[in-house]
Amino acid sequence: MGVEEFFAWEADTVREVLPISKETSVEIQPKQPTAKGPAEWFTGDVWIDSIARGEEPSRARVSAVRFTPSARTAWHAHGGGQTLYVTEGKGRVQSRGGGITEIGPGDIIWTPASEWHWHGAAPDHFMTHLSITEAVPGDEWGEHITDDEYNGR
Ligand code: MN
Repeated sequence: MGVEEFFAWEADTVREVLPISKETSVEIQPKQPTAKGPAEWFTGDVWIDSIARGEEPSRARVSAVRFTPSARTAWHAHGGGQTLYVTEGKGRVQSRGGGITEIGPGDIIWTPASEWHWHGAAPDHFMTHLSITEAVPGDEWGEHITDDEYNGR
C-alpha cells in the first residue's frame, strides 16, 4: 500500500468548496475521517488525521499522527525527506545506525530523503506529531521495530 492509496481522499469531497466569500477561492475544507495507522506500517495503535494534501503543482502532505504509549512506526524512509513537529507528549526517534533520541513538544526533527528511521511514543506517554512530507516517489517501508530495538538493546 502506498501513501497515496492510504490517504485516498474522495475527489468529490476534496472538491467541495466552502467559500469564505463570493469573491475568493479560500475555502474551509471538509474534515476527513481519522484513519487507523495500518498494521503493515505501525506497531501498536496509531491514529492519523490528514491535514493538507496539496493539489498540483504542490506536493505538500501534512498529517497529525497520534501514537499511543509504546506505539511506533516500522523502519521506513521518505522519498522527499520528512519534517516532524512534536505537538504533545513524549516520544522516541532513531535513525538507522544511530542512537535513540527522546523527543517532546516543540521539537522539530528533519530526516533527509532515503534515510531509514523510525519514530513513536515513549513507553508510558502518548505522543503526537505533525508529519510534513512531499508526494514524491521513493517511500520505502521495512521491518517492524522489535521490543529490543525500541528499548535500545
Ligand atoms: Mn518518518
